[in-house]
Amino acid sequence: MNDFAHGSRSKQPHFVLVPLMAQGHTIPMIDLAHLLASHGALVTFVTTPLNARRIESVIQHAKESQLPIEFLPFTFNYAEAGLPEGTENLDMLRHGLQEFAAFLEMCFSNKDPLISYLREHETPPSCVISDLSQPWTGEVAREFGIPRIGFLGMSAFATLCWDITILHKIYDNVTDENQPVPIPGFPHPLEIPKTKSIVSFYAPGLEKVREKIAEENSKSEGIIVNTFLEMESLYIDSYEKLTRKKAWAVGPMCLYNKGLKQMLSRGNKASIDEERCIKWLDSMEKGSVMFVNFGSIANIVPLQVMEIGLSIEASRKPFIWVLKAADKMPEIEQWLIEENFEERVKYRGLIIKGWAPQFMILSHKAVGGFLTHCGWNSIIESICNGVPMLTWPQFGDQFLNEILVADVLKIGIKIGVERSVVWGSEKSDEVMVKRDDMKRKVLELMDEGKEGMERRVRARELGDKAKAAMKEGGSSHKNIELLIKVVQERSN
Ligand code: UDP
Repeated sequence: MNDFAHGSRSKQPHFVLVPLMAQGHTIPMIDLAHLLASHGALVTFVTTPLNARRIESVIQHAKESQLPIEFLPFTFNYAEAGLPEGTENLDMLRHGLQEFAAFLEMCFSNKDPLISYLREHETPPSCVISDLSQPWTGEVAREFGIPRIGFLGMSAFATLCWDITILHKIYDNVTDENQPVPIPGFPHPLEIPKTKSIVSFYAPGLEKVREKIAEENSKSEGIIVNTFLEMESLYIDSYEKLTRKKAWAVGPMCLYNKGLKQMLSRGNKASIDEERCIKWLDSMEKGSVMFVNFGSIANIVPLQVMEIGLSIEASRKPFIWVLKAADKMPEIEQWLIEENFEERVKYRGLIIKGWAPQFMILSHKAVGGFLTHCGWNSIIESICNGVPMLTWPQFGDQFLNEILVADVLKIGIKIGVERSVVWGSEKSDEVMVKRDDMKRKVLELMDEGKEGMERRVRARELGDKAKAAMKEGGSSHKNIELLIKVVQERSN
């Protein structure tokens, strides 16, 4: 334990953070842990041995800089859950949605060990901040008589839309999944077909756990949203009116780590030497590079991967292409070799096979566009860095994020995908976006004509607002302080 933590131990508010073990949920929670700790709160962060190993440098950094964050690794009973030994993260599920319910239920077993740990802790817990997918944390909060605040990791836009969807059961009787359905009570007209809604992430077997999640969330005292008021106050206000709960906009939380090398690997260890990556980017012209990455869990089928490679090559734009599937799908590796692809593009393209230091790449001045699957973290990281986006949503909240980026904020363009894929059951012979269409969209995004320049300016201005929100006196900075104050007053 460090001196800072010892200083006013008994009075120090103690936040217990419980993420969903998936990069898109854990990364912003790690940022939140640092934000809270840097504002003087004590943080217990629940993790697992494998996930802790992935973020070794972050844990080390917290220790060295005497930040009061305790990382608490719990193991699971895999056999009981029917999952392979060592399945500790969503990105390890081989069958995606089919195994999702089992994975979520396996996490419930953390309840008793966490309660025992907190009972023994010298500083009583003051607040549980829990991923909304972890309903068991409600019992932990009740055990200690403390508030439970939810975290979902989505935009306020998508969070509001989801709450309305649940409240009005708007897709219950919809038979045509492509038919646009109005979202009643949304602050502006919005129609979403079932295939583009969050319901697209539902799967048989998830009903029971979904019920538990909804029930527990109706009891939670509010939510943390990784956004900022200058961008999403309309949806934050509507959410608060609809649910009568506080929505704390405290983002973009990724800005906490700006400039901190250790925080770049807060999701996983990068598969490329960061120095090499920076050197490559330094050698490119400002705003010229297209960055292509589909997040941590989306599975792009080999035929589509090849089509992406050929179109980005045909665009003749410099690019960084992150290939997640290369190790899992030998046909991609074989294709790269047969085509001599890497050699062919070597003066213009950098291929990263595995985990890329995404935040670092997006913050480099050479990057001028981001082809993204529209995971909320990817979008908010792009926004912080003023990078316009080409949006290619896959499932879940991603189509809603696409609407926010392309139609509302006008800092991106849509690649044109009209329906979701089923995570884990992707059709191997399906090419959703053809080579020429993608090439056209890449050129449109990177274009330096009037429209392209206006989009760039809007993206840059939004990035400036994001940074201002996180600075002392900014809206998100104030909200973090207020959150800590409210929790502290309650526990006193
Ligand atoms: N990420 C990364 N390198 C990768 C892939 C993803 O650093 O190669 C990070 C990315 O910066 C973001 C998170 O992982 O913080 C992905 O979250 P997002 O919500 O964008 O998508 P998800 O993976 O949940 O679909």
